[in-house]
Amino acid sequence: MMNNRFIRQLTVPEFGENGQKILESNHVGIIGCGGLGSHLADFFVRMGVQTLTIIDDDCVELSNLHRTALYTEKDIGTPKTTTLSKHLLAINPRLKIHAHTTRLTAPNTEQLLASCNIILDGTDNIPTRYLVNELSVKHHIPWVYAGVYSTIGMILAIIPASGPCFSCVHPTLSQPSETNIPVIGHLPAAVAAIQCSEALKILLGTLSPKLIIYNLWTQQIDHLDIQKNPDCPICCKQQFSYLKK
Ligand SMILES: [Zn+2]
Repeated sequence: MMNNRFIRQLTVPEFGENGQKILESNHVGIIGCGGLGSHLADFFVRMGVQTLTIIDDDCVELSNLHRTALYTEKDIGTPKTTTLSKHLLAINPRLKIHAHTTRLTAPNTEQLLASCNIILDGTDNIPTRYLVNELSVKHHIPWVYAGVYSTIGMILAIIPASGPCFSCVHPTLSQPSETNIPVIGHLPAAVAAIQCSEALKILLGTLSPKLIIYNLWTQQIDHLDIQKNPDCPICCKQQFSYLKK
């Protein structure tokens, strides 16, 4: 039955049976269950992830429905984590899911994520990304950052053991002041799909990380080289500030 379920992706040369085994034996963590996170969870569970952690402290709102996967009007007002878990378990009842209805903070980050083999960023919060980056460096856990704005997505895979960290590339990002950041409805699905590919290549050991900038409207995609900062306080000096807050 399992082979039948995945027969169409087992024959993809870049992925194959080895990719399937790797996907099924790794624990994936997803932070945020909104536009990016709901699509990421949907993709990974459908593709065969068996162990998943999801974290979000929000409830489903009407204004989420234009850009998220799986949620419906019936889910409005319910916690995203419990609602998403229900949908994911309907896709695969054997899924081992750890759903945490909480905000990721310095005191709980290691407890919730240190057992993951890879972390996917579905949050829209800049301080949370710096927190995850420090966890990634401290515990040698790769993660894939993504952000969306209007019709543009940015994706960056972080492999702390061998490449630059998030702080090397973005030393000082601040939170946008807008409360309703513009996002066209189909952008998070496209960006989550690219994140998913980057994560799979990390797990397969075939990724050379680049900063990817994708404009869904013009279809322009740029791949920018990234360098480790030899003075980076996080990955070169292990001076963690967010994990200690
Ligand atoms: Zn760094």
